[in-house]
Order: sequence, then C-alpha cells, then structure tokens
Amino acid sequence: MSGETARERAAMVDRLRAHGVTDERVLSAMSEVPRERFVPPGAAADAYEDTPLTIGLGQTISAPLIVAFSAAALQAGPDAHVLEIGTGSGYAAAVLARSHGSVVTIERHAELAEQARAALADTGYDTVEVRTGDGYRGAPDRAPFDGIVVTAMADAAPPPALLEQLAPGAALVCPVGHGGHGVLTRYRDGRAEELLDVAFVPLVPGSPQPGSS
Ligand code: SAH
Repeated sequence: MSGETARERAAMVDRLRAHGVTDERVLSAMSEVPRERFVPPGAAADAYEDTPLTIGLGQTISAPLIVAFSAAALQAGPDAHVLEIGTGSGYAAAVLARSHGSVVTIERHAELAEQARAALADTGYDTVEVRTGDGYRGAPDRAPFDGIVVTAMADAAPPPALLEQLAPGAALVCPVGHGGHGVLTRYRDGRAEELLDVAFVPLVPGSPQPGSS
C-alpha cells in the first residue's frame, strides 16, 4: 500500500467520525480494508471519495459513509454471524468480516459474485462465504443471523424470509423506498426505525435474465 493510499484511507475514517460514526470496530475495519482493491482499476483514484462508484452491470459500491452507517446500525458484537444481501464489489462484506465474526453474502449476478470472491481472496478476507442467488430467500441453512444488512433498496418492506432468519433481538438494516431514493431503516423485534435518507440501486427478485442487468 502506498503512503498516499494510507493517508487517503485515514482521512476517510476521520470524515466518517466527523459524520457521527462512533462504532470503533467498524472504523478500525474501514481503516484496514483496502477499498481501492474493490473498485474497477480505472476508478482506483476515486476509491476514497465520499461517493458511490460504478462496478459494472449497472451496480455500485456504496459510499463509505453508507457502508459504515449500515454496519454500525446492526449494533452486533465482534463474534456476530452476519448476512449481507447484495455483495456487489465485496467491499462491505470485507468490512463486516473485519468488524464482526462470520459473513455470508448473496449476489444475484454471478459475474459480480465471482469478481467479489476474487477481490476478497486477494485481500485476505476469504472467510466470507459468497453465494450467487436470490437474496430474497436469505440463507436459511445458515440462519439464525445476529445481523442482516441489505445493500439494495426494497420497495416497501424487507423480504419476509430475511426477517424470519434473524436471531431474537437481532437487527436487519435495509434501505426502503422507490426510484432510487429512500430511507435506511432498522428492523428489530417487530419495530421499524428510520435512520438516514439514502440513494440505492433496487433490490430485484429472482435471477438475472441473459442480457439484462
Ligand atoms: N454491498 C455492495 C454494494 C451493493 S450494490 C458493495 O459493498 O459493493 C447492490 C447489489 O445488490 C448489486 O450488486 C445487485 O446486483 C444486488 N442485488 C439486487 N437484488 C438482489 C437480490 N434479490 N439478491 C441478491 N443480490 C441482489
């Protein structure tokens, strides 16, 4: 890692603190995970900007603040068993793996799942289990989870199967809204708590058809 990259990463973490992220495990994870290795080579110079970046197939790696905020909002412990829906680049999965115990992540695009697996292996986060499939179903064979993060926007409510896969007292964090804009919402013990206005790509049911995104 270059000195410049180290400085950019430290500055990113300072900005996360300034924006009110206080979860030290998440901050320390984000000070370690090399975000530049999860973005396409052409975008590496922008890896530490406060912005989402395009990763192909019409998808994005979320802005650092959203990754930090979602992971912290789980309020789960260091040994927590976490499920992520929407692997995308694999960056948020790496952060969750560093800040929590074990991570299963599901991506509907096989090509993105494959790229994410490679990036996670390359950066040493290969304990993350990357599955290709429909995140609406969750991972019942690995449930219950101590936290679930959905990184694509649900229409009105998170998929019911995911809520069923939460351990008692555990939280599911999911953006909910329409047309790309909505509210990051925490679901726990049957209650919904609105956390932050956000923009996200949509959660899409089923597997992609050939030629579609
Ligand atoms: N967490 C990612 C950002 C994800 S962008 C990162 O850190 O880079 C949202 C991702 O959700 C996209 O890759 C999209 O293909 C995926 N997605 C959308 N609907 C899905 C579904 N039903 N199941 C699994 N993945 C889904």
